[in-house]
Amino acid sequence: MSPTIASRLAGLNPRQQEAVRYIDGPCLVLAGAGSGKTSVITTKIAYLVQECGMSARRIAAVTFTNKAAREMKERVGSMLKGKEGHGLTVSTFHTLGLNIIRSELKALGYRPGFSLFDPEDAKALLRDLMNKDAQVDADQINAVQHQISQWKNDLVLPGQALSHAADDDEQYAARVYEAYVRHLKAYNAVDFDDLILLPVVLLRDDPEALARWRRKIHYMLVDEYQDTNISQYLLVRLLMGERSTFTVVGDDDQSIYAWRGARPENLVTLGEDFPRLKVIKLEQNYRSTGTILRAANTLIANNPHVYDKTLWSEMGEGAAIRVVVNRHEEAEAERVASEILTRRIKESAEWRDFAVLYRGNFQARLLELKLQHYQIPYKLSGGTSFFSRNEIKDAMAYLRLLINPADDNAFLRIVNVPRREIGPSTLEKLANYATERNISLFAACHELGLEQLLPVRAVERLSRFTHFIDGVRRRMDQGDAIDAIRGMLHEMDYEAWLYQNASAPTIAERRMANVWVLVDQLEKSMNRDPEDTASTETETDDVEAAISRLVLRDILEQQAEEDDSDRVQLLTMHASKGLEFPHVYLMGLEEELLPHRNAIEVGTVEEERRLAYVGITRARRTLTLTLARQRKTYGELMDCTPSRFLDELPEGDLEWEGRADREDPEKKQARGQDAIAGLRSLLG
Ligand code: ATP
Ligand code: MG
Repeated sequence: MSPTIASRLAGLNPRQQEAVRYIDGPCLVLAGAGSGKTSVITTKIAYLVQECGMSARRIAAVTFTNKAAREMKERVGSMLKGKEGHGLTVSTFHTLGLNIIRSELKALGYRPGFSLFDPEDAKALLRDLMNKDAQVDADQINAVQHQISQWKNDLVLPGQALSHAADDDEQYAARVYEAYVRHLKAYNAVDFDDLILLPVVLLRDDPEALARWRRKIHYMLVDEYQDTNISQYLLVRLLMGERSTFTVVGDDDQSIYAWRGARPENLVTLGEDFPRLKVIKLEQNYRSTGTILRAANTLIANNPHVYDKTLWSEMGEGAAIRVVVNRHEEAEAERVASEILTRRIKESAEWRDFAVLYRGNFQARLLELKLQHYQIPYKLSGGTSFFSRNEIKDAMAYLRLLINPADDNAFLRIVNVPRREIGPSTLEKLANYATERNISLFAACHELGLEQLLPVRAVERLSRFTHFIDGVRRRMDQGDAIDAIRGMLHEMDYEAWLYQNASAPTIAERRMANVWVLVDQLEKSMNRDPEDTASTETETDDVEAAISRLVLRDILEQQAEEDDSDRVQLLTMHASKGLEFPHVYLMGLEEELLPHRNAIEVGTVEEERRLAYVGITRARRTLTLTLARQRKTYGELMDCTPSRFLDELPEGDLEWEGRADREDPEKKQARGQDAIAGLRSLLG
């Protein structure tokens, strides 16, 4: 055995070692937070390569978020040397799907150069389709979008959705679904859910494609398995087939994506579909102090359990968990920021040792202001703010149009940005013309017939625009794609346009700088050293793939990860999955926030409890829970009730600050009895 892998294995406990060494059949590691599941996956990748002589090219490891994939890559990268990691896939499910689609475009019936629609683009398309019949509001569009996403995650195609529709609403949604799929195809575009759905349908229906991929991938490892949806599960099952050489690890108590179609039942299904499944449980937690672990265990015991798990730790008791009650949300943010400032010195910690977790991104706003006030460096993860900037949306639209001129959404966004004097009535006529002939707007600009419809000047302006884009496309094909993109931005003087439209020159300057950040990231992603261990999902990353990954937000999160400067981490509990920090602040422990109001209304408090469990178990040494007595909700200052989850934590381990009125003990006991009765009835 190679000395590296031997020493890695020696650092694991016997059960973990067993999970690493077991390669003869399907393997499930089912264990609580911080028990070393991800460590099993990373060590096993090294074991497969170094000990079993498997080519890294034949191994695919998938996980849930870009951040987690990035972290896994780092861990594996430190174990594999030189060429050992060449060709290894470590990615999210979505990136794996994207790679399959890219190499199977023809079999899937797509033309080269397809667009990836992000949820905002998808919504815009749905809005157009739905507004054709009647004026619809944002809620209706969201509901239909959610329903379509559910269908795709459950592998329900439009025909099936139509024939199984239970009521008029579903009938309607299914009809929109059918039109939506048709339009996406016409645009040569796919949405995020398609990244899983299309490969699954292809592998299911096309034996040759299936054989190709089974030859390519021999071993799969899946982290955070509890959050896979049906399509993702089928993707793993199809790829592995009879050979069933895979390892999946998960924790049913950390399933927090049911709202996005995750099916924790997949854990049970696995045992049914693979009777030879070897199940390994881990029980020692290597992350948190005894106090933090007890809090997590006690809280999650309030949920019914399919599998029993007990977690213990040898990390010592550690400090009590502090619960800090604040007057209002601003005081809460102020408190967290000022505490981090002083505690960094007291604990002789680094900024990066502190993480602040919250339920919703909106909670970060006040906190950001306070951190800025104290000049505390911080990193905000997961927010989409960068991509919702207008200049970034413009730049992305240009990039998308360059790789796929049939992308009408992108065309409409930038045909007049910067101003090209192409007015709405010209565009409307162009759109009618294109629709009648079933061609894209871009293609329609090249048609002679247009001259009968539009004034000469309008036709000229349109064709000047398409020639401009065609020219850039040619330069991209012939030479350095990034140079061509930079040249395009200069040539059309996007910067001047930003200056014309900004209220101050510094704002325009910053916006232009953002655009260059985007282009730089694109370049970096294309030039990644292919020899670089475990960093390549595909062997050649051309500009099309890079742009798609940009839409997937993959590249920018990569930048965020590479930026290892010392900063306080701000992230949602959802985004914190799999990560760990010495000092954790959990904000907003109030009813209607955690558990979230919607979850209380629809009866999914158990999922919120799992979310709180995920948050608590991120902490290694200290945990601070904060809440506010009053908070602005929909513009109104409302009184808040402390979260029920606080009552579910071991009272003796909590240290309260600023709690004026303690709850009447009798009332509390009654509530506890209710919970126990509820749990009993659930467990039958
Ligand atoms: P989560 O459920 O939160 O994803 P996990 O089960 O994936 O957690 P890891 O992240 O793999 O747990 O491990 C938690 C911590 O424990 C890490 O810091 C890891 O390095 C450490 N660790 C894992 N196994 C061992 C071990 N056998 N001995 C010492 N430390 C370990
Ligand atoms: Mg993990």
